[in-house]
Amino acid sequence: MTALSIVDLVYRWPRQQAACLDIPRFEIAAGEHVFLHGPSGGGKSTLLGLLGGVAVPERGSIALLGGDITRLAGHARDRFRADHIGFIFQQFNLLPWLSALDNVLLPCTFSTRRRQRAGDAHAAATRLLTHLDLAPASWHKPAAELSVGQQQRVAAARALIGRPEILIADEPTSALDAPRQQIFIDLLLAEATAAGAALLFVSHDERLAAHFSRKIALADINRAAAVEP
Ligand code: ADP
Ligand code: MG
Repeated sequence: MTALSIVDLVYRWPRQQAACLDIPRFEIAAGEHVFLHGPSGGGKSTLLGLLGGVAVPERGSIALLGGDITRLAGHARDRFRADHIGFIFQQFNLLPWLSALDNVLLPCTFSTRRRQRAGDAHAAATRLLTHLDLAPASWHKPAAELSVGQQQRVAAARALIGRPEILIADEPTSALDAPRQQIFIDLLLAEATAAGAALLFVSHDERLAAHFSRKIALADINRAAAVEP
């Protein structure tokens, strides 16, 4: 079973002549941990937006867990994302007024499937926060009052709750110093393994790739990278 299979994907931003992405083939196996790197502005976040179904390609297919999400209507893509994908964003996108714990529980309110797979959702949330080294003293604080490193752990726990089959992380460590980056990545890899999730981890910093099963440069799969606009 493949977690992700891209075939002949082309994406162009509105009012731009050159395509941003032109990816003949790219696959991620179920449970595989892939590190994708490339320079800033290269189209990494654009690709993740297509995988999350927030944008639709000009042509080509994006099969996630065997189903082509480009053929789904908008609301069905939103549902698929909520049910099967855990996202960790560069700016974390936590709801600042909600507590750490309630931020982690959010996917269980949006997705019945995630709630069912979490079992006791509250217990699952506190277990994840504990594994990710967030002390109980921080669990009930509003997200806005947490440090950057703490917010990042909350964002990771939120992505992991209810064991989505696909985890996507968009430069989640860029706000941390180097030793903390590696600690966070190792915690994330351990939790992805425990959940049996495929992980696509994106960064401009190739040095972080050490503990991943596969490392790939966006330019190696993206033909558009060779073309200057
Ligand atoms: P990366 O994540 O690798 O830094 P991005 O995917 O954010 O790269 O951006 C790739 C290119 O896509 C940018 O150089 C820019 O030209 C274009 N782009 C990104 N976001 C937008 C947008 N909202 N509207 C138009 N063009 C965009
Ligand atoms: Mg980006």
